[in-house]
Amino acid sequence: MKLMRLIHQATVSTLTLPPHHSTNGYLIGGDGEALLIDPIFQQGNPLDTCLQENRIRSIRYAAVTHPHPDHHGGIDPLLSRHGGRLLCHRDTAEPTVFRLTDGARLKPLSGGESIEAGPYTLQVLHTPGHSPAHLCFYIPQEGILFSGDTILGRGTSIISPPEGDMADYITTLRTLAAMDIRIICPAHGPVITEGVRERIDWYIAHRMMREARVVEALKEGLSTPSLITRRIYDEADFRMHGHDLQPRAERTVLAHLEKLEKEGAVVRQANADSPHFRIV
Ligand SMILES: [Zn+2]
Repeated sequence: MKLMRLIHQATVSTLTLPPHHSTNGYLIGGDGEALLIDPIFQQGNPLDTCLQENRIRSIRYAAVTHPHPDHHGGIDPLLSRHGGRLLCHRDTAEPTVFRLTDGARLKPLSGGESIEAGPYTLQVLHTPGHSPAHLCFYIPQEGILFSGDTILGRGTSIISPPEGDMADYITTLRTLAAMDIRIICPAHGPVITEGVRERIDWYIAHRMMREARVVEALKEGLSTPSLITRRIYDEADFRMHGHDLQPRAERTVLAHLEKLEKEGAVVRQANADSPHFRIV
């Protein structure tokens, strides 16, 4: 699907977290050469079709926002066929992570780099939160952000410790809120073209609202993620998202508690078999 000149979306079915059932890959380029973002490749799948439709003969880079298995696949055969290198955060630049046979194909990034892709220049942003090694890719000329799992087209991102870090995530969102972003191309859900600024602001406000409720629950004397989750999530939340919400919600509450702990607002009780927290 063409999003704009030389930017295409190829959505592939994946085992990802509900309500999503697919991952959006993106192709930037033309004239035979392309850069891919979160490519999942298989002979005849939507990405393969997209490459053929755009007559892509060579791939310059296959960029992966973060190493979760629903964000990359078949990269070894893809790069063997079309050439190119795999871009990822330096902390995950291991051939085994991406099942690459040739480690020389890896190009580790830290954030701050500029990558040429057809007529566009992508800025690499290190955006920890959902995962410590998460990258977003930004085209300043067009105000386009390829957001990976940092901002989704529908619903909110999962922040699950120890990989997920709520303090880092809020910092990342505030950085994005200060940028000129007009279009968000997420890894899951529809592309966001309207109300982008409002959506980022809502992402921050939603987390801060949740955190305020965690603090209230702590003040009431509740001390574990499980008890706090049952106190602050409504029955309606569980009905809407299904029974698998409880463990996911508990991970989110733990992420908030760890953020508050880092900030010195709560302390973790020592010698408890499950984590207990209390307000300072
Ligand atoms: Zn992920």
